[in-house]
Amino acid sequence: MPLYEYTCRDCGTRFEAMRRMSQRTEAPPCEACGSEQTQLGMSSSAFVGGGGGSAGACSTSAWTGGG
Ligand SMILES: [Zn+2]
Repeated sequence: MPLYEYTCRDCGTRFEAMRRMSQRTEAPPCEACGSEQTQLGMSSSAFVGGGGGSAGACSTSAWTGGG
């Protein structure tokens, strides 16, 4: 299972949790305060540099459920 990073909207604690891809939107409760107001964290400066990347606009593709 992939590892996702979540951020608590109540206390701002960032924690990681292993979730299934189909359950990544179902954020687990905060490990610090137990709040369920958590959201998927967005790694802003995780992928910097590299070279040879195709920088394009985010294309919204229709996700029709799946496994
Ligand atoms: Zn919290």
